[in-house]
Amino acid sequence: MHSKPIVSKFGGSSLSDAEQIRKVIEIIRKKPDRRYIVVSAPGKRAGTDDEKITDLLIGCHVLHEASESFEVEFNKVAERFREIVKDLGLGLDIESLLGDIRQAITDGASRDHVASRGEFLNAQIVAEALGYEFVDAKDLVRFHEDGRFDETNTFVRISRFSFKCRKAVIPGYYGSLPDSSIKTFDRGGSDTTGAVVAHGVGADLYENWSDTPVRMADPRIIKEAKVIRFMTHGELLELSDGGAKVFHRDAITPALELGIPIRILNTNDPDDEGTLVMKERGEGERHPYSITGLSGKRFIVVTVGKRGMNQEVGFMSKVLATMAEFGINVQHFPGSNNTVSMVIEKDTVDMHALALALESVRIEHRPDMIARDDNIGVITVVGQGMVSAPGVLATLTNVLSANGINIRMLNQGALELMITVGVDAERMEDAIRAIYEAFVKK
Ligand code: ASP
Repeated sequence: MHSKPIVSKFGGSSLSDAEQIRKVIEIIRKKPDRRYIVVSAPGKRAGTDDEKITDLLIGCHVLHEASESFEVEFNKVAERFREIVKDLGLGLDIESLLGDIRQAITDGASRDHVASRGEFLNAQIVAEALGYEFVDAKDLVRFHEDGRFDETNTFVRISRFSFKCRKAVIPGYYGSLPDSSIKTFDRGGSDTTGAVVAHGVGADLYENWSDTPVRMADPRIIKEAKVIRFMTHGELLELSDGGAKVFHRDAITPALELGIPIRILNTNDPDDEGTLVMKERGEGERHPYSITGLSGKRFIVVTVGKRGMNQEVGFMSKVLATMAEFGINVQHFPGSNNTVSMVIEKDTVDMHALALALESVRIEHRPDMIARDDNIGVITVVGQGMVSAPGVLATLTNVLSANGINIRMLNQGALELMITVGVDAERMEDAIRAIYEAFVKK
């Protein structure tokens, strides 16, 4: 009988050098159900200002494309791996593996191929150190020809593979296209690999090991922000969309759809219970505050106004279709009867495409006005505890007004799971501190 496995994904900081990898091996050995291990490439070593292996590899590719020498960058990668293999006393032929990668870069391998090699090497190292099988993600994680993730094919492959292979280390972050070439997820995509492996093997639990506990607010803004012990997939998704950097948002959906619990844990404090993310919160799993957490992100807000817009069938869908044609993702759109604001993430938007999209909206759909503000900080306040709890919004608006922070936008969905508040970007951190104190210190 096959028992239900645990999938454990370890991030770059958990695998940054031999000492960290030893901690990981010890953690895995403590629970025999930890049978499918997904690894990132080595990240920054604690207390150093060195670079992530993935960044160095992408750097090698960029240099080669510009017909410049990538030797210096590549040697940094090679040294990190040589040191790890030597310190762990492994018999792996790292020189030949590194030689293959150097050759592939020289031969013009794609950006995704080169970027993925950190995970490819690291998984072989961890597999050998553990005595687990190494299984290349290119044979399990598949993408369609147009680059979209192929969920069905991936599930079929992983479920079949898990039936034959009881213990394996799988590189995170990448898979392959139908022509077998390598394709990566977005940066930080090993979280997604972990989630799809958890789905495919029918895991009981998806463990996600990193080096930072999940706190109610960004610790760079509130140093002592409390650790969240329980939350729902929905809350984690909203917090991540709102700017929290704990977990890749694409990795939440597979777990959410299947209700697979996620436990976020800390490799440097392995006995800490971490944060349990469940489909629903059970008895005794209550977060002690009415808000679970809050995050903040900078946005561009474009307000489109048209008299009678609320009576005109399809006006907004036409505007959104135009935005989509230029590849502009509108995160949400609070509005009034005659205006709608489109909230667009500032850090990722293509400014040129946005300008073209807005000009097309103006010419093609003839709104009465379009106003654009590039300087809005949107705070997402999330919490199941807000449902049917009178006074949450009052506390929030009162504390902002007491701190002299003007509310530019305010939105609460009918599910009452989250409130978004837009303020001038320069006041965003002040607002986060004020809201946190209002709810947590009470
Ligand atoms: N190594 C990749 C990155 O740095 C993927 C990951 O770590 O999740 O983005």
